[in-house]
Amino acid sequence: MLALLSGFAMLGVQLWMARRSRLRYLDLGMWTWGSWLLLFGFCLLAARIVLPVWLSAISGNGLIAIGIVMYCEGIQRHVLGRGLPRWWLWGASVVSCLLIAWMLAWPLYLRTVGISLLFATLLLPGIAVLVGPGWRAEYSLRSVALTLIMAAGSLLLRAVHAAQRPQDYQDLLQSSLGQGLTFLFSFICLIGAGFGFVLANFERIARRMEDMATIDGLTGCLNRATADALLRHALERGRRENTPVGFALLDLDHFKVINDTHGHSAGDTALRCFVEEVRGRLRASDVMGRWGGEEFVLVLPSADRAGAAWLVEQIREGVEALQIRHQCGEVFRITVSAGVVIAQPHQHLSAEQLFTLVDQALYRAKADGRNRVQVQDAPEATAIPAALPSQGPLAPDASAGAGA
Ligand code: GH3
Ligand code: MG
Ligand code: MG
Repeated sequence: MLALLSGFAMLGVQLWMARRSRLRYLDLGMWTWGSWLLLFGFCLLAARIVLPVWLSAISGNGLIAIGIVMYCEGIQRHVLGRGLPRWWLWGASVVSCLLIAWMLAWPLYLRTVGISLLFATLLLPGIAVLVGPGWRAEYSLRSVALTLIMAAGSLLLRAVHAAQRPQDYQDLLQSSLGQGLTFLFSFICLIGAGFGFVLANFERIARRMEDMATIDGLTGCLNRATADALLRHALERGRRENTPVGFALLDLDHFKVINDTHGHSAGDTALRCFVEEVRGRLRASDVMGRWGGEEFVLVLPSADRAGAAWLVEQIREGVEALQIRHQCGEVFRITVSAGVVIAQPHQHLSAEQLFTLVDQALYRAKADGRNRVQVQDAPEATAIPAALPSQGPLAPDASAGAGA
């Protein structure tokens, strides 16, 4: 009992302190409450030496039951983004307390069976979420699932043990190997689940930070720095494997007018719809990145001239057919112009040279009336101006002429 109390006290204090720092944004709140309730519940059970047994049993077991409900609530919020239904939260807590009060009239061994089964049942909603949608979320959640399953399993064992050996459960403070082991094991599992849950929260934060560094927040496609790095990587790989690399620069037509006519948030909706439309047409190995405002790049590994031109033309037609519906129900359309260049492996084009060429192609597409795709053939490497520095991400104004 002492090990159990100090374990939960330590976990509760650590979670509480963590929540006072920047970690307050994590889903640790409910788990912290759950740990505190379990701690106070076990304290009240231990306090039966000084408290009336009925008070200690009802309040102690009741708080443990509510603590387990809180754990499940924390898991649900973390995995599904919403808690358990209110009726379950309150219903499970109230019914558990009533059941515990009702069991008070039972002999102790039978009460141990009932309470163990009740606690195992209360763990089920959390376990169900963890082995369902939670299994595909953070990896650390799998350890939470396994430890909670083991906790439920040991509670069931305790119930079976109590049913088979009532003589070991005549007095609550009576020591019995079976009772002690199953009790201790379920406690260790609950502590282990707490650590797993904290790890899952950290895993989520790490993933979010990684996303923020690589993903464009508005559209969800790669940001400029990442697309630039992947373009350089694709060019290197194309040279090594002797395969061409397609590169396209897409710029939405008269986007300023769209913003001015329908509002900036309608423009944002259009950008998201555009990205969704394009993404649906790309292969898994293709890369789409937001280069700036309403300009996007496509890196198409192993795409020859005909294949890349066909794909970008399909994208242009798809975008033209899009009906963009804004929040207020207003429907409008957009079009896109694109420049396409193919880097042949023997040409040894740098990312900067490729960008200069694709920018020229886009400029021609715009000058020819917009809503069209212009494919530019790359001359031999020596004839291409190296307009931009060869290190680091490409310069932001490289496409300024295209949008004019
Ligand atoms: P063109 O056909 O020549 O490309 O004309 P354009 O109006 O699209 O070109 P320009 O580059 O002058 O305008 C781009 C506009 O895109 C200006 C800016 O307000 C808008 N824009 C850039 N980023 C965003 C964004 O994140 N959201 C919204 N709604 N608009 C943006
Ligand atoms: Mg534009
Ligand atoms: Mg532009």
